[in-house]
Amino acid sequence: MIRMNKRYEIELIGFDADDTLWENENIFHDAQKQISKVLENHNYNFNRELFNIEKKNLEYYGYGIKGFILSLIETSLKISNKKLDNQIIKEILDLGKKMLSKKVKVLPNIKTTLEALSKNYNLVLITKGDLLDQEKKIYSSELSKYFSYIEIVSHKNEKTYMKILEKYNIKPKNFLMIGNSLKSDVLPVTNIGGMSFYIPFELTWELEKVEVDQMSTNYVQLENISEILTRLKSLEI
Ligand SMILES: [Mg+2]
Repeated sequence: MIRMNKRYEIELIGFDADDTLWENENIFHDAQKQISKVLENHNYNFNRELFNIEKKNLEYYGYGIKGFILSLIETSLKISNKKLDNQIIKEILDLGKKMLSKKVKVLPNIKTTLEALSKNYNLVLITKGDLLDQEKKIYSSELSKYFSYIEIVSHKNEKTYMKILEKYNIKPKNFLMIGNSLKSDVLPVTNIGGMSFYIPFELTWELEKVEVDQMSTNYVQLENISEILTRLKSLEI
């Protein structure tokens, strides 16, 4: 009996940016810790309040540092019973500017992997967040030369990925997405019939956490980015 192997023909590879190509979540994590320390005398659980407020605010501000800063101010106002010291507002605003001017730290082995992949595949960078901030990070990472296309989007859901694939005339089954978020990079892509490599980062934002039944989804979890090339070869045999 001849066993037919499923053959994947990848024509386009998508990459997430934050916490896939460069560090991001730890910048938010450190900022949250700094402000929670300033307000630790109050009777609220700062992290839980911030989580709830950020979740509610996503529909107004979207993803990124600016929305985070507004949510930090709102949380601090709530925690202080609207008697927030102006000095704390100033500290939060300064923190936002510091976060926005932080130097991009590209993760290990990214350059060599992208260089190798870009010789054989078209690569598309798909990222969500503040437009200006994402553009700045892409520019200063010096990684844009490896990408054929760059897409900065507001949400990463099934509709977004379908739209991008239609734009570049790629069928979902010929698309591979690589990223650190199951919710944004993996599930919406496997749900439309694409393939995904999930590479978790050391920290995951609460709002990106999801429960998944891996048996029912078409993704492969990798330890690090260096595994991409060998995994890709084994997929295409
Ligand atoms: Mg990410």
